Amino acid sequence: MKVSAKVGAIDRKSPSLATDTACQNMSDAAKNRPPITEVTRQKQSEAAVARLANRVDPYRDTKPERSFEAQLQVAGYKYEKQKRIGSMLVDFYLPQQNLVVEIDGCWWHGCLDCHPDGGANLDRFESRKSRLKVLGYSAIRIWEHELIGMELKK
Ligand SMILES: [Zn+2]
Repeated sequence: MKVSAKVGAIDRKSPSLATDTACQNMSDAAKNRPPITEVTRQKQSEAAVARLANRVDPYRDTKPERSFEAQLQVAGYKYEKQKRIGSMLVDFYLPQQNLVVEIDGCWWHGCLDCHPDGGANLDRFESRKSRLKVLGYSAIRIWEHELIGMELKK
């Protein structure tokens, strides 16, 4: 088999890997695994295709955003998602309130409550808020951690 030939080649090149106990255990487990049939292979490839099809852009449709959207729907708010305002793409726009709502992930945007070290600190909210104000929009930010247990009412 091609794969085992490759593994053999790696083992020869790095003998330390071959003598590693963890590595030894893994190859024992691999030996005991039932052989992969064509059906299994087909299923695995279908699952991989499905995963790709369902993949969402983490910057465009984050889990906190989906959770907030569900709340908007339950509370019956009218909203536009990923609305372009000027050169900005905002998370949510509530036309009846003329309000922009940005849902910010705690780590990415450096929420100090959750990440006193600042996280990734990609915070742009204040500058976006003032740019939106100039364009005639109010804006609020909801942190990811604030969504937990939040109940939106109209
Ligand atoms: Zn937070």
